[in-house]
Amino acid sequence: MSSERRSAPSLGVGPYERTYVGIDVGEKTLAAVAPAGTPGEAVEVGAEGRIRGYWNHLRKTTQLLSETPGVPANAEAAVLASEWRRMREHLEEVIDDVLDVVEQHPHPILVREEFNSSPTAAWCHRHSRELGGWLIPTLIEAIDQEAAARGVDVVGVEPDWSSQVCHRCLERGRLERETFRCQNESCGVDYLDRDVNAALVLADRGRYGHRRRFREVNR
Ligand SMILES: [Zn+2]
Repeated sequence: MSSERRSAPSLGVGPYERTYVGIDVGEKTLAAVAPAGTPGEAVEVGAEGRIRGYWNHLRKTTQLLSETPGVPANAEAAVLASEWRRMREHLEEVIDDVLDVVEQHPHPILVREEFNSSPTAAWCHRHSRELGGWLIPTLIEAIDQEAAARGVDVVGVEPDWSSQVCHRCLERGRLERETFRCQNESCGVDYLDRDVNAALVLADRGRYGHRRRFREVNR
């Protein structure tokens, strides 16, 4: 007797079925949020570039103050305090929105890149053009804290190649500015936003176990 496996009726997921929701954090779009296997549901949060604007203002102003004779030593700190307040308010909004999107999925597990270094204070980076060194660990830690406050599980996965491989076929594709293009003709993915693709790759590694998938990518 042969048995045929049928698709479950669409009544939502069962009690033990979890939704792996990938988060790709970056400077351009602060967070791309996408559940594994469903590229159409991706949401991008914090894409207006406001943090970059605040950061540039902070960098240029503190630089100027540090080069100007006679400026009191605490002037840079005052600028940082004012810019940091604006950055923190924006980041709090973004992180709230990210967790709202994650919680729209049934029994979610938030999947983000594994990060080994702790965030350092914005003060240490204030003269640097490179925003990501401060922003990415700061965002990831804040997302973890908000997830913990809301009781959402978090899993960290290997981030290597997550921007370069196609979320569906795992072949290495081409990055063209803000777009990822899959070059595997039998795949079916033509092109999509690069951050959304990366979020889907991370979600997939959370769902299937990133070690197995990572070895497949590098075979
Ligand atoms: Zn592909």
